[in-house]
Amino acid sequence: MENCLFCKIAAKQIPAAVVHEDEDLMVFKDINPAAPVHLLIIPKLHLSTLSDCKPEHAPLLGKMLALVPQLAEQHDIAVAYEADGTPARGYKTLINSGPDGGQEVYHLHMHLYGGPRPWRGMRT
Ligand code: AMP
Ligand code: ZN
Repeated sequence: MENCLFCKIAAKQIPAAVVHEDEDLMVFKDINPAAPVHLLIIPKLHLSTLSDCKPEHAPLLGKMLALVPQLAEQHDIAVAYEADGTPARGYKTLINSGPDGGQEVYHLHMHLYGGPRPWRGMRT
């Protein structure tokens, strides 16, 4: 896709702080982080929004989500349990879709936010 910022990052035509790459996905640090850890998980395939995904994209979408536990471990934000079983740490995953969803870059991406709060612009 011409003139797509994230396609250009996926093709390494524009630099990014890449933390993971495989045949289908790329993960890089958000350039304007809203939390101590703020990663963007993208498919290399250009899909503009979640609304452009079809049932055939289910494995790709599943791969994006299934990568999160590994990324969370690597960035020290995985949910941990106290001795009494109380959960601690953790993270938020978010896909903005379309103008009403607050999407700014029209190449599907999932945000992964984590680390000690407060986070910019987020109360929950
Ligand atoms: P969204 O509002 O869901 O479309 O989010 C787009 C995100 O992309 C924002 O959090 C931006 O800070 C981030 N972003 C924009 N340009 C770049 C870039 N060149 N490298 C990394 N992140 C970027
Ligand atoms: Zn693209």
